[in-house]
Amino acid sequence: MSERTLVLIKPDGVRRGLIGDVIGRIERKGLTIVAMDLRTLDAETAKAHYAEHSERPFFGELVTFITSAPLVALVVEGPRAVEAFRALAGLTDPVKSPPGTIRGDHALEIGENIVHGSDSPESAAREIKIFFPDRF
Ligand code: ADP
Ligand code: MG
Repeated sequence: MSERTLVLIKPDGVRRGLIGDVIGRIERKGLTIVAMDLRTLDAETAKAHYAEHSERPFFGELVTFITSAPLVALVVEGPRAVEAFRALAGLTDPVKSPPGTIRGDHALEIGENIVHGSDSPESAAREIKIFFPDRF
């Protein structure tokens, strides 16, 4: 049984030249990239993507950051792809995230933690529809 997840290489990851690193980890794990696009988000799309956090104090900062420069959006497929990519990414707080994970290896700040990965198959379906409305 295959599953899909939405992965973002956020503006900090792109700026720091980590597109190849993240894609390499996805590929080496055995997951398949089935869609990929470099784009700069508008505020409306960013707010829809992060709607669950709209009441949080960091929401404004999060939307400003995610729309500040290009990101790479990917749809990644494989067995338990949601959980598999979250394991590659590590924890939300990069300092608590173990070395060997994307965030553990490359980041120090919660607000600039390199990647996004959907947190459930239901979230993945919702997010993939936002980023790739015509593709799936
Ligand atoms: P994750 O990306 O691990 O699923 P969340 O869904 O909880 O984490 O949060 C979404 C994103 O919002 C995080 O990746 C992070 O960039 C940002 N964020 C979360 N909590 C904070 C916080 N306390 N301060 C600033 N930014 C935060
Ligand atoms: Mg999340």
